[in-house]
Amino acid sequence: MIVCFDIGGSAIKGAVAHSADSIQPLGRRTTPLDDFGAFAQTLGDVIREAGGKPDRIAISITGVVDPESRAIKCANIPCIDGRKLSADLSAVLGLPVLVANDADCFALAEAGAGAGRGHRIVLGAILGTGVGGGLVVDGRLINEDGGFAGEWGHGPAVAAMAGTPPVAIPAFDCGCGQRGCVDTIGGARGMERLHQTLHGKALTSEEITTLWQEGDSEAERTIDVLVDLVSSPLALTVNITGATIVPVGGGLSNVTPLIARIDKAVRARILRKFDRPLVVPGQCRIEPGLIGAAILGLGGEAQ
Ligand SMILES: [Zn+2]
Repeated sequence: MIVCFDIGGSAIKGAVAHSADSIQPLGRRTTPLDDFGAFAQTLGDVIREAGGKPDRIAISITGVVDPESRAIKCANIPCIDGRKLSADLSAVLGLPVLVANDADCFALAEAGAGAGRGHRIVLGAILGTGVGGGLVVDGRLINEDGGFAGEWGHGPAVAAMAGTPPVAIPAFDCGCGQRGCVDTIGGARGMERLHQTLHGKALTSEEITTLWQEGDSEAERTIDVLVDLVSSPLALTVNITGATIVPVGGGLSNVTPLIARIDKAVRARILRKFDRPLVVPGQCRIEPGLIGAAILGLGGEAQ
């Protein structure tokens, strides 16, 4: 038995898992943001709810673990930012602790229990607030030992011209320290930035996608440019990884016509030709973080 967690800046959600098909939710708590002792205590409280000592715990979290130092970068939760989270929690809780970021856990969930079932190579792509990804091969997370496999959202990959007819796209500064990342134009905030740049109008991504589906010409231009900018780096990532399915998670994955349009554009830009959808909405619509963490914990050894 393992206990898995999905931890964000507002809530800690826990579950007890005996297998990927048997996950029972435990209590949901508010995330302590400024006190690591309280943070660890909250996890301990949830573990006690499971009744019995788990073999290990596995955590899906917003944040990135540095492959060398094992320190986590997590701006949303200051009390863990910069800590060696696995080691520090393990010391307090007396249990092995596995940590993976939420994009990696999404990829694991889709590979094990979602749109990626039956596929050897699954590239999970997040189009949420920003852009992320994770790579699972033969059921194993490629990032498990540290690294950034499947992270197609960062690096100066965005074209200088995009759309039909082409328009110049500035290289926007990214939170990772680089410029011109897919993350700056591909998620919800990126869509809003593109719309502002192209039309001088500050709309939310929900407003833009609603207008687009109603036939608004400015929103269509924004989506046309976004799909063009996102599809080339995603297609290259598909070529490099050999992924045969790309489940998409995050808020924009709920806009089904947008995912269908990205799918069409990506399939036109890759070497292998598929006569079926390749980029598809993820199927784990409820708690992909918990499902992915459960699969991580059930399959993995402690780090
Ligand atoms: Zn970046």
